Amino acid sequence: MTSIVEFFRNLPRKKCKQCGEDMIHEKADCYGNICDECDHPAR
Ligand SMILES: [Zn+2]
Repeated sequence: MTSIVEFFRNLPRKKCKQCGEDMIHEKADCYGNICDECDHPAR
């Protein structure tokens, strides 16, 4: 039996479409799939 925690752990981790790094902190979908580094306003 799979617990809810296992379910989320098994989900594929989102990757930044800019740099391809795994996104540790997922953002809301309105931001797209871009990590904090690539989405930084100073860049
Ligand atoms: Zn990135």
